[in-house]
Formats: sequence, C-alpha cells, structure tokens
Amino acid sequence: AVVVVGSCMTDLVSLTPRLPKTGETIHGHKFFIGFGGKGANQCVQAARLGARTSMVCKVGKDSFGNDYIENLKQNDISTEFAYQTEDAATGTASIIVNKEGQNIIVIVAGANLLLNTKDLREATDVIRRAKVMICQLEVTPATSLEALTMAHSSGGPECIGVTKHVSQRTWAEEKKTKESSWVLWWIMKTLFNPAPATADLDSRFYTLSDVFCCNESEAEILTGLAVSSPADAGTAALVLLERGCQVVIITLGAEGCVMLSKTEPVPKFIPTEKVKAVDTTGAGDSFVGALAFYLAYYPNLSLEEMLKRSNFIAAVSVQTAGTQSSYPHKKDLPLDLF
Ligand code: ADP
Repeated sequence: AVVVVGSCMTDLVSLTPRLPKTGETIHGHKFFIGFGGKGANQCVQAARLGARTSMVCKVGKDSFGNDYIENLKQNDISTEFAYQTEDAATGTASIIVNKEGQNIIVIVAGANLLLNTKDLREATDVIRRAKVMICQLEVTPATSLEALTMAHSSGGPECIGVTKHVSQRTWAEEKKTKESSWVLWWIMKTLFNPAPATADLDSRFYTLSDVFCCNESEAEILTGLAVSSPADAGTAALVLLERGCQVVIITLGAEGCVMLSKTEPVPKFIPTEKVKAVDTTGAGDSFVGALAFYLAYYPNLSLEEMLKRSNFIAAVSVQTAGTQSSYPHKKDLPLDLF
C-alpha cells in the first residue's frame, strides 16, 4: 500500500478579466471549487492507478473538510487517519486567474498545520506496513520529519541488513536478479517531495529520503544553482545526492525528468512525449503519485522504466483542465503501463 502524510486544500478559483489592484473590487465571470493540496493530489493519482492508499491528514470540522473527506472516499482512499479539527479551518487556496492565465494565490494552510506527531503515532501501523510513504512540506516540517523517521526505520537497508549487498550492485544488475526484488522493494520506502521548497531545508530530510523528487524551481532553491536544462538538472541532482538521499529525481516539465542514484551516480535524462498541454497545474503531483504506485507495486521494474511510465501518466494529466480532475484512471490508460 501507499500512505501519504500531507496536505488537503480546497481551491477557490475565480476567473476574471484582469487581476484587481489594492482596495479594488472587480467582477469575475466564473467561479469553481476544486480539490487540491499536494499530499492529497499525489494520493489520488496513486489510488487511480490501482494502489491501495491511505491519507494521513487534517482538515477542519467544516463543510470544506466534510467535502474533502468525501472526495478521498470517492477515490477509494482510506480516511481512517484523515482527522477533522475544530481548532482551524480546512486549508484553502484562493486563486484569481486573469484572461492571460496569470494568477495571484493566497494559501491559508489552516488545519494542515495542526497535523502533529501524536496524530502520526496513531497511524503507526499504517505507516510501518506501507510499501511506500510519501510526504511534502505543506504540513509542518516537524510532522514531515517525524513521518519520514517512522517510515524510514520500518524499511530501508539498515533494517534488513543488506546495505552492502545492494551498494555493490547497480540498478541494472538488480533488475536481472529476480530474487533480489524484495530488497529493492524495502529500500525505496520513503518518497519525499520538498515542496514548497525552502533554502534552509533541515539536513535530515535528505538522509531520510530514499527517493527525493523535486521540480526545477525547487532544485534551484535547494542548491542555489540555475536549473533550466537536463544538464543543469544533472549537476543539481549530484549536489542533492551528496546530501544523503538514495535516489534524486528532478522533473523538467515538458522535457521529462533526470534521475540519479547512489548505486549509479551518473545523471540520466528520461525524456517524455510531446503533447498539447492544456493545464499543467498539478503535473508534478501526478508524477509523484504515479512513481509511488510503481515503487510499491512494480518493484521489479528498473527505476528508469518507472520514470518513463510516470512521465507518460503526468503527460496525460496536462492534456485536460483541472488538477485532480485531470488525473487518469487505470482503465483509461494503455495496458502496457501495468
Ligand atoms: P510541477 O508540476 O511540480 O511544476 P513539472 O512541471 O516538472 O512539475 O512536471 C512534472 C512532470 O509532469 C514532468 O516531469 C513531466 O513528466 C510532466 N509534464 C509537465 N508538463 C508537461 C508537458 N507540457 N508535456 C508533457 N509532460 C509534462
């Protein structure tokens, strides 16, 4: 199963001819409510591919919170550890989009910031038993760190004493050895998406990340390097890898992604299909959710193959409008992805 410790946000979107100035009231022509938040987005994508999923999160005891929990259930996500609180409102993102597609956004994280380590401890069994745990930075850093610590200590090479065995092999060799698949299966337990990124990220986030996956702008913030090509991304990925993760992936929008692993520390570019993008909002979350699905359910695939498939799924998501509403279901995808 895949467990996500992360955020739920209700998106409140107004479409207007232009962005208002300070003190000004303007009329928009369309309003809609969407389900967002990086954590829930990633969980929804993994669930739609067929993963058994569980969301550890906190929303308000309010109508947005009730609707959000219903949305998770509709996506077949376990809500046993989706908490509701009276102490804060459900997280919201108020978004104004002008006709050029430019936007201004106010995020009030609300209840997301009240998800605490006590809540995580109640979900201990689910976190320890999961094959993959994903987290991001839309809950407090202390909560994300605790989630990573709990998951890391219940998987990973240290736990089963195979560190040496694995570090002497490359991914390609691992792939050829069928009986070693369970080793990979356990090693890739924590998938960390450092978003939104801050330059002073605690060093433990790196050492607790089996897979560290970010986009170009997050890689720039974290490394201080300019990242605008696969070559730049390779350089940034090396810097991040040296901070202690097992695998680093940097997504590059329409280009695809770059991967790097401790066992194969040479950056590899994995290009994606050319598609007509309609709305790229949430593409990164579709990608992360898909990757978690493959790590959990297809441990025999090479990392490169998992990333090719995740690229494909994220490319499907950019071809229709919306965030979660654009994420494909298993039944709508080519059979050879499964
Ligand atoms: P984010 O949504 O976090 O900004 P990216 O823009 O890097 O992340 O996109 C994540 C992934 O989504 C990419 O690695 C790619 O697989 C896919 N993707 C994004 N934009 C496009 C696009 N225009 N065409 C095809 N695939 C895309």
